[in-house]
Amino acid sequence: MGLRLKLTQITLEDISGYIKGYRWYSSKLDWNKLRPMILKRIEKRAEDYPIKGMIPVAEDVIINRARLFEGVSTLLRHYPIKACKFCPELYIGKEGHLIKTCHGYRRHIKNQVHHWVDGALNDIIVPVEAFHLNKFQDIIKHDQRFDFDRIPAVLELCSQAGADIFDQTLHSFGKDSVSFDVSTSPLELAYLAVQTLKAWEDMREGVQKLLLVYPAKVCKFCDEVHVGPSGHKARLCGVFKYETWRGTHFWKKARVDDLVPQKIVWRRRNQDPLILLDKGRNMYGHAPAVVELCVQAGAHAPSKYACIMKANGSSPTLH
Ligand SMILES: [Zn+2]
Ligand SMILES: [Zn+2]
Repeated sequence: MGLRLKLTQITLEDISGYIKGYRWYSSKLDWNKLRPMILKRIEKRAEDYPIKGMIPVAEDVIINRARLFEGVSTLLRHYPIKACKFCPELYIGKEGHLIKTCHGYRRHIKNQVHHWVDGALNDIIVPVEAFHLNKFQDIIKHDQRFDFDRIPAVLELCSQAGADIFDQTLHSFGKDSVSFDVSTSPLELAYLAVQTLKAWEDMREGVQKLLLVYPAKVCKFCDEVHVGPSGHKARLCGVFKYETWRGTHFWKKARVDDLVPQKIVWRRRNQDPLILLDKGRNMYGHAPAVVELCVQAGAHAPSKYACIMKANGSSPTLH
């Protein structure tokens, strides 16, 4: 479908917008004059998109994302994590904890201890996918849903900001670092942890900047993310798909956490018992999972997390 045809479609919608606005002021509307004017404005808007200055920001996000994945997967070989079999709970440590916050699969139980199994990369860097759109894509309808690829939402945001997300050199960053194996020294791991934490912070900062310019939406109920100005109708809302009104999503503006979930975990400090107990739950600290992993491997957490990490807070064993 040619660009011209798409522009014409948008134009017709815009014109109907103009009618609504003009109706009260003028009964005589000169369509022949108005139409080329609107067309020109829309064409100009398309030229400005994507904004050139944002392309390096988007490319940096892709590079930092690659570093993050590489760093976290290497650290995970040395620092085991535990995930709950029945809910999204995660713990950065060998044993899990005894805090009774498990609600089970689909929240069918309440306040139970978690059932710990070995965690993996996807538990710590939670995958969030979105539809990959063409530049001038109209709203996706439900019956078109198989025409579009699902790709990581962060990459879709970078793509809409003008980065070439299929450029393999951008994705290969982090792989050039020292090859890490079981014999890697704690010092080398600490260095990697610092780099990985920086990549995480830089990536989130980049995504924040992109979201100021390129809109994204998230469903209030099911966390489906859509990158682009208008929501989509392609997937039914996970929460309401069995409801009579056909599972429409409720879109609201997406924030960084919707595209890059922090995955907050309980953390064990030196003053805490070896395995965190339920009775101490008001005193323990928290941290985003990636931050906690990097801190355990020797990195210093940025000061903005001090408040939730409660590094020097008291512990239940002292009371
Ligand atoms: Zn659980
Ligand atoms: Zn939804």
